[in-house]
Amino acid sequence: MPAVGMVFVVRKLQLATLLVLTCLWLPGNLAKAQETPENLVLVTLDGVRWQEVFGGVDLALIEDKRFTSEPEILKKKYWHEQEILRRKQLFPFLWSVIESHGVLIGDRNRGSRIDVSNDWWFSYPGYNEILTGRADPAIDSNDKLWNPNVTFLETLNGMEEFNGRVLAFGSWDVFPYIINTERSGLPVNAGFAIATPAQTERTEWLNEVSAEAPSLWSTVRADFLTNGYATEALQSQTPRVVYIAFGETDDFAHDGSYDRYVDAAYRTDQMLAKLWNWLQATPSYRDRTTLIITTDHGRGHTPEDWTSHASPLDAARQMTGSDPDGIPGSNEIWLAAIGPHIRTTGLVKGHWKQSQIAATALASLQLEPAQLMPQADKAIAEILQ
Ligand SMILES: [Zn+2]
Repeated sequence: MPAVGMVFVVRKLQLATLLVLTCLWLPGNLAKAQETPENLVLVTLDGVRWQEVFGGVDLALIEDKRFTSEPEILKKKYWHEQEILRRKQLFPFLWSVIESHGVLIGDRNRGSRIDVSNDWWFSYPGYNEILTGRADPAIDSNDKLWNPNVTFLETLNGMEEFNGRVLAFGSWDVFPYIINTERSGLPVNAGFAIATPAQTERTEWLNEVSAEAPSLWSTVRADFLTNGYATEALQSQTPRVVYIAFGETDDFAHDGSYDRYVDAAYRTDQMLAKLWNWLQATPSYRDRTTLIITTDHGRGHTPEDWTSHASPLDAARQMTGSDPDGIPGSNEIWLAAIGPHIRTTGLVKGHWKQSQIAATALASLQLEPAQLMPQADKAIAEILQ
């Protein structure tokens, strides 16, 4: 190419660069940049107690042979005399990234509380409350019944800008009913479902592994499969809203395996760390994605009742001669969040309800919950910015 032509090309490039730079600073483009789509990842950890989230492992349960088969191994992994180091050993992501760049609610020893408001204190009523923003007294079992209530996921999927870009993944096979796939048409990969058709090589591998993995319970698959399908869909389909429902913790607790419950909680924290790092390293999600983590119910406080959860109403219905108060503590939950519209103050003091999570999720997407879901409880304003 002749020298004159080269100069021309260089000048043209400089001009183009100038134009691009100028455009970037035009107020119109600035407004457009602020309108970039917001995303949301909601994660639930079934039946994880606030006691472990804020206090780390419980020594009484580690040293009890009924619940922990190798106490020394568990102690070595998770025990520390100091509470703030102990909880960080169990939930390193929550107590490093979220504590310093997000918020946490639920440390009842420090004036921060969030409670279930439904009357049952078990899973389906809890997930219904989280996803629809309202406790429904008619949701009174974990049976596979189509949810008559509309979740915020379904509401979003009905909006043009979210349609086809809302996905859900769950370890428990009741999620398709809770999200009512029949009515909502939302894709929910849950329980022992595989992905059909497998659109990527990794999905094909996950389908194979799903058939080969040991089945621990009849209705709940291992969380690594749920996590695998969810992260693969995030990477290959770039959805705007993803719900991931992990389940192992509740089942290991019901089994009376404190060691496995604790290990499952730790593994989930590691999955969250990896997920958050990936979101923050990916241009379409970086600084535009909110991560909300919570749970469907609490559990008992003591070595005698930590394995289970029940409300007074549930206990009365079971008529097993159990405590008329049910299992105290089963209504006590927690929440953690991080994202561009979430405050960065760590522990937030106050008292909130599980029914406020749906509106909080919508508000984090910069939407107006009162317009979209007028029947839902109000958002947790104290964690939003
Ligand atoms: Zn349970």
